Amino acid sequence: MAIIVGLDGKVAIITGGASGIGEAAVHHFWRNGAKVIIADIEDDLGRAICDQLDESAIYVHCDVSKEEDISNLVDTVITKYGKLDIMYNNAGIIEGFVGSIINAKKSDLDKIIGVNLVGGFLGAKHAARVMVPAREGSILFTASACATIAGLGSHAYTASKCALVGLMTNLAAELGQYGIRVNCVSPYAVTTTSIAKKYGEANAMKAEALVQSVANLKETGMTVDDVANAAVYLASDEASYVSGLNLVVDGGFSVVNPTLM
Ligand code: NAD
Repeated sequence: MAIIVGLDGKVAIITGGASGIGEAAVHHFWRNGAKVIIADIEDDLGRAICDQLDESAIYVHCDVSKEEDISNLVDTVITKYGKLDIMYNNAGIIEGFVGSIINAKKSDLDKIIGVNLVGGFLGAKHAARVMVPAREGSILFTASACATIAGLGSHAYTASKCALVGLMTNLAAELGQYGIRVNCVSPYAVTTTSIAKKYGEANAMKAEALVQSVANLKETGMTVDDVANAAVYLASDEASYVSGLNLVVDGGFSVVNPTLM
């Protein structure tokens, strides 16, 4: 049963929808009546999710770092549905050398920026291309709590997510006149494929500690559904006057003063 009525009948692209936070968002958007387009590079995973849903969910292969792929994705959606209501730029890689900037590699930075920032930039550009003439739309990014709290991610990853937040505010300022809202959802740590890959088996304890450090609000800690619910709200008409917001989903972690605990 749809809970968020402001998603009913909306056409929504979710990049990185084949796994983790994106996969959860696919289920939440679909359950609330949206037609969902999963855009990812993991074709088997993406198609398998569509198989669990009905024909209102489709999969399109799209490498968000490639402009041609994003352009084709948006054109495919317009041809099939005649409109694009929501562009959720969620695809990202959680990588990069964690340590001193002195030992960081430029190749790391290039790779991470190439997906996390360039992917969001291109997603917004091609969404705006069709949303501006329609004079409505909602553009959303998954940034990260590391954009506002130091020391959570590698320098390269943090730089990519800070840049996304800056891009979001600029876009909100530009696109508001066309009825287009632009926002970020910024999760703290939640266990997903990327997090598991980043920390690996050897560092499983470290990953677990990171996730558990947000467990103060509920015993299970944060889940992908907590992030997806925030995304559902920001993307939907329920947030009709919310734009330029970086919504941090961290269970209050960023405001806790450890000396008082
Ligand atoms: P995940 O690895 O489970 O999912 C990421 C998805 O993005 C995968 O399906 C992957 O195939 C896809 N992807 C990667 N590169 C792509 C590309 N070039 N083109 C298209 N798709 C691509 O990871 P996740 O944790 O769900 O991450 C989702 C987003 O959330 C990312 O932007 C990540 O930076 C952000 N984030 C995650 C956490 C966390 O703790 N998991 C915290 C803050 C922010």
